[in-house]
Amino acid sequence: MVHLNPPHSEGPRLYVVDDALFEQHRARGAHPERPERLDAARRAVERCAASGVSVERIASRDATQEEMARAHAPRYLEALDRISGHHAALDPDTYVVPRSVDAAKRGAGSAVALVEAVLAGPGRLGVALLRPPGHHATRETGMGFCLLNNAAVAVHAALSSGLSRVAVIDFDVHHGNGTQDIFWDDPRVLFCSLHQWPFYPGTGSAEEIGGGEGKGYTVNVPLSDGATDVVYEAAFDEIVLPILDEYAPELIVVSAGFDAHERDPLAGMKLSRAAYAAMGRRLAAMAAAKSGGRLAMFMEGGYELSALEASLAAALLGAAGRELPDEPAGTAGAAGPPVQHAPLSARHRADLDRARGVALRRWTTL
Ligand SMILES: [Zn+2]
Repeated sequence: MVHLNPPHSEGPRLYVVDDALFEQHRARGAHPERPERLDAARRAVERCAASGVSVERIASRDATQEEMARAHAPRYLEALDRISGHHAALDPDTYVVPRSVDAAKRGAGSAVALVEAVLAGPGRLGVALLRPPGHHATRETGMGFCLLNNAAVAVHAALSSGLSRVAVIDFDVHHGNGTQDIFWDDPRVLFCSLHQWPFYPGTGSAEEIGGGEGKGYTVNVPLSDGATDVVYEAAFDEIVLPILDEYAPELIVVSAGFDAHERDPLAGMKLSRAAYAAMGRRLAAMAAAKSGGRLAMFMEGGYELSALEASLAAALLGAAGRELPDEPAGTAGAAGPPVQHAPLSARHRADLDRARGVALRRWTTL
């Protein structure tokens, strides 16, 4: 038997972590944060493999108490243990079913495992297919579909392993209030979020810049609804990438939500999958220049299944340096002419200028 390499198999290997337990977190009624999202994410990884990206699975595991306690308050972790095995709700949006806490602990531990794999060698790209998501979970409480802050637990593990500069880029359409909260006064973590604003959860104005030693290390880019690919492209070119260049992170972590896609039912942004490919490509290029090529993506939101699949595939293919293949015939993205993206609107120009003006106080190269 001859084993043929897939075509174009050069380029970074993609490390993937996933676990069947993440399917057990399932609301009793209809809920947008549903297990079918995982199937969409798995299909996205399959698309990458079909495009010649070499995929390596890594073992999932539970987060240890010590790992969780770096990001979350003991009394919150105790509260989670009390509701584990039961039906509960952390807020009207955030359901807990009997296996939810187990799934959350497996998710946070798998996020740590992914970061460990990415840090184990140069030029490593990773993705964690996680449910429940994490970026709204603060130090004190879960909220907004999130129980444990997977990205924050993983970043804390990286810091504990000796890193001193980690960047978290959050392009989920909602502000990553939990991650901001956990690293608010910590200059070892640059937290940068692009999000629809005003919008859930209400935080994320440009004036929120961190406090104490961490002042300036929180960078918010709130954007009016209707933002298209060109707005995110400009935000990256004018704000995100120059700051990353100056900060020179040893690792880039992405809170990768895909609910800014134009077909997402929960939000009002207008991104196509091409925007996610562009963000993946640019973050990988920055990681190659500054971070030894180390880039780890954690799945956050994204509630239209075909958009989630196409957008996650695009982000990963972009990060792996691949061109996007055409959308398969019969899928939502395949029909009709390509989306026309209007030039940057005056509203979005003003949004970017405001965010850049605030960030200028700390970041000199802008
Ligand atoms: Zn979201």
